[in-house]
Amino acid sequence: MPATIASFDKVVSGLAPEARRRFDRMYDSVAAEARILPPPAMEGWIAHAFRYLAPTKEGVLEAVRRQPIMHVMNRATGQATLFNAIRSQRPIEARAATDLEAEIEAARAKCSFCRPLEQTPANTFGRIGAQKTCANVAAYDGYHGLVIFEDHNPLRFRHDAFKVGEVADLLATARAWAEKCHAETPQARFFFLMWNCLWKAAASIIHGHAQMTVGCKFHYGRIERLRRDALAYQHEHGADYFADFVAIHESLGLAARWGSVAAVAHLTPAKEREIILVADRYENPDLPAAIWRALKVYAAQDVKSYNMAVYLPPLGPADPGWAGFPVLAHFVDRGDLAAKTVDVGGMEFYASAVVSADPFALAEAMKKQSA
Ligand SMILES: [Zn+2]
Repeated sequence: MPATIASFDKVVSGLAPEARRRFDRMYDSVAAEARILPPPAMEGWIAHAFRYLAPTKEGVLEAVRRQPIMHVMNRATGQATLFNAIRSQRPIEARAATDLEAEIEAARAKCSFCRPLEQTPANTFGRIGAQKTCANVAAYDGYHGLVIFEDHNPLRFRHDAFKVGEVADLLATARAWAEKCHAETPQARFFFLMWNCLWKAAASIIHGHAQMTVGCKFHYGRIERLRRDALAYQHEHGADYFADFVAIHESLGLAARWGSVAAVAHLTPAKEREIILVADRYENPDLPAAIWRALKVYAAQDVKSYNMAVYLPPLGPADPGWAGFPVLAHFVDRGDLAAKTVDVGGMEFYASAVVSADPFALAEAMKKQSA
């Protein structure tokens, strides 16, 4: 039987002693069982809606009556995720993307990003690469820019035409933009790069684009929180947080090596199918290919809308407060573009992430991308 999040306790108890000690200093987990009593009138609906759980109606009903839950906590950061295994076994139903592709094509006629020089503002220092970057018309921070992709279609990552060189170009263009901000305002050191793909991921414009901000004085809150948590972990355990983070995922079978970049199927994902890449530096030559691979995994899992977010230490001379802080590229699936509900609610904002996708299944898909 392949490992699953429902059998997480067994996976953890199978760890070698050293790996187990490492796991225990960063993570904790608790299993629960949700027991429900559906009335007879609901049975037909349940048998159909959860038909993938078992070959017989009685088997399906039994699986729904007793639902295993796994709650995993990162003790160092407080990030926690509730996994419901019956939701996680739902098969990937690849729905036709034709309507979506048509909607993307229809947006071309009025697309301001297809005509960036006339339809988008420039930053004070101009544009990088003539027309690749622009300023955000309604900025988040003192410096807020965009890399506008050459291809209008944000689903390009799902097509064979999508090449590693495009990712390398994106990383280099975003970095060159950030360095311009830093040169203009030396206190502007805190560079953040993200890519919201389509409306479920909060993109307001269909045309593919990434966004960059550069802040002053301190890094963005989540990134600063992680820096402090990693320092506290190092102080408490005498071990490097990020090295342990990767080693724990590796020991559980939740990681792949993409060149010199570690790729983990995150144990406490923010939402569905979270992949985190850990690289020693932004300029690591393996990073573009690792990002490209993460997107190919997403394409294979039929992901269409996602957020990518890159954490890195401040620009400028090495800051001792950030020593050992790696580059982390996050990817999270934001779900069905046709669904009217948003995928995060009160639980995610204020309590704990609730996730259906099994990180062990994601890890298997990631390992296949290694070949
Ligand atoms: Zn466009």
